Amino acid sequence: MASYKKKSVLLINPWIYDFAAYDLWIKPLGLLYLASLFRKNGYHVHFIDCLNVCHPQLKSDAGVKLVKRSIKGHGNFPKQRIPKPHSLREIKRNYNRYGITPDIFVNELKSLVTPDLILVTSVMTYWYPGVFEVIRITKQTFPDIPIVLGGIYATLCPEHALQSGADITVAGAGEKHIPLLLHDFLGDDPVYVPDPDDLDSMPYPALDLLPLKDQFPILTSRGCPYNCTYCASQLLTDRFKQRDPAKVVDEIDFWHKHFGISQFSIYDDALLVNPEEMVIPMLTEIIRRKLTCQFHCPNGLHIFQITQKLSKLMHMAGFATIRFGFESSNPMTQLSSGGKVNNDQLQAAVRHLTDAGYKSEDIGIYLLCGLPGQEAAEVRDSIRYVQSHGARPIIAEYSPIPGTALWESAEKGSCFDLRGEPLFHNNSLLPCRSEKLTPEMYEDLKMMARGH
Ligand code: SF4
Repeated sequence: MASYKKKSVLLINPWIYDFAAYDLWIKPLGLLYLASLFRKNGYHVHFIDCLNVCHPQLKSDAGVKLVKRSIKGHGNFPKQRIPKPHSLREIKRNYNRYGITPDIFVNELKSLVTPDLILVTSVMTYWYPGVFEVIRITKQTFPDIPIVLGGIYATLCPEHALQSGADITVAGAGEKHIPLLLHDFLGDDPVYVPDPDDLDSMPYPALDLLPLKDQFPILTSRGCPYNCTYCASQLLTDRFKQRDPAKVVDEIDFWHKHFGISQFSIYDDALLVNPEEMVIPMLTEIIRRKLTCQFHCPNGLHIFQITQKLSKLMHMAGFATIRFGFESSNPMTQLSSGGKVNNDQLQAAVRHLTDAGYKSEDIGIYLLCGLPGQEAAEVRDSIRYVQSHGARPIIAEYSPIPGTALWESAEKGSCFDLRGEPLFHNNSLLPCRSEKLTPEMYEDLKMMARGH
């Protein structure tokens, strides 16, 4: 009888290299959807999570700062201080590698049977040094195995990503590349390809591969129907799509029953859009099934969709962390950036949410800080506005994103070479700082937003 060896694919979630990083329910959901699709096509999959906060070897590794985690599934990453890249040498802050150590990563690689294909994901454009390092080390262990780089950085900075050392970079949603990857790199024809118009044709993501199963991410939609000038949503997805709400609840029920998960994060760009067809039936079904779960929405929800009915359902269904994208109380900024919200809508939403049982500190309102040409006074006024209407302002530092409508102004208004060096997209640098919004003013604004 001829022996048959199943081919295998290795998926890697790389390190974060940055001045600061916090695990606010971050999981590599896109990569784990791909893992699931490879399984469905008959492959073994292996997963190395460089952001694994619970790797057993971390305890014995000198120089690693161990971390505390919240029972809600967020917390610090372990970190090791590393030298700053040359272009950041003037910045007077420590630079770190977040996640496991390189030794642990190499051991993980060496413990594997040689895979047939390696996929590496990427997130923020300015985290690319961690991606490059992962690819460099992986190439040393598996020099003959093709490496495919995808994810957000690879989509937004395709030319820069050519320097990554990967054999090929792919843009946008990973699943659309499955036929090419199978054909060109594995010599196979796909057995299963999801319908690009139907998000529910995707198998559940392979969340069982996560080393720490403290919370699971749930996706209800892709993309956003709006097109704000500072946002990458339209660049990352072909068009706005939503799942069947009953199937979303089936999935939550599945992870709850089979893996005991009660904390879920939702990173959708537009969870509340088309509420009567999507989120209202979803919440009603969660309540009907008596799913005792908590949901965390750290990405900005749409304020203007908040009604009395929706607020009550969110509260009853266990939506514990709610954050909204407001960005500014200045009507000119609201209009010129896309017109997704106005001040009256914020006031009405806070009233409905408070009536439903949310406290002021529960209602997080994002305010953008450091937009090209923005003055500190605008951010200060916005903080005061949000506080005076009974919600909690949260400063979100602006990060310039190539390809967005605001990119050109950002490039013109920045003292950094944004085009030549993605490290300068880092929001913690305040890339579009000016004498009207200096890093010192920004520190004062952060204190003010915290109520000091
Ligand atoms: S509404 Fe939010 S997700 Fe949609 S384009 Fe604007 S900022 Fe992006």
